[in-house]
Amino acid sequence: MQKPQSIAVNEDERMIPVWSIVAASAAFLLIEYYWWIVAPAQRHHPAPPIGLRIYLNLSWGLLAALYFLMIGYVSKDAPRRAMSTRFWMLVCLVMPGGIGAVFYFLLRQPEVSRCPACGTHVQSDFHFCPQCNYQLSASCGNCFRTVRATDQYCTRCGHELAEDHTPARLRVLGE
Ligand SMILES: [Zn+2]
Ligand SMILES: [Zn+2]
Repeated sequence: MQKPQSIAVNEDERMIPVWSIVAASAAFLLIEYYWWIVAPAQRHHPAPPIGLRIYLNLSWGLLAALYFLMIGYVSKDAPRRAMSTRFWMLVCLVMPGGIGAVFYFLLRQPEVSRCPACGTHVQSDFHFCPQCNYQLSASCGNCFRTVRATDQYCTRCGHELAEDHTPARLRVLGE
């Protein structure tokens, strides 16, 4: 009897790794512990109203948790964009107030994937693999703009797409 093919669950699809969730929870609890238990014991002036205290204490805790979730996200997101994971995790870690994360989102590169034919890193907007000429997305053979794989004619120049190299177009259709 043939074994049913197991559906490959790619753990890398998780954009927030477990360790960063654990770190975020620990940071949250630690901050709450400090502001509710440690800090009031050292206070010499009267405490602010309880509503304000709850708001401030939770805000600090959530901010710290967000910080670690952000670093976890960068650790997963950077490799998909062929960016240095260590460098950007360090930037997010040392720059105060989440400025590192802002820089990361401003400067991050488009997502890369691998060419199914030769494994070269390719960007999502590539039509052809730069190493092996494998067609990565359907494009017009005349004006080279992106077309849908089911189109018969190019929407930009009217070129009959069936005249293009059929095998390459069929490979795209088969995905
Ligand atoms: Zn290739
Ligand atoms: Zn065209």
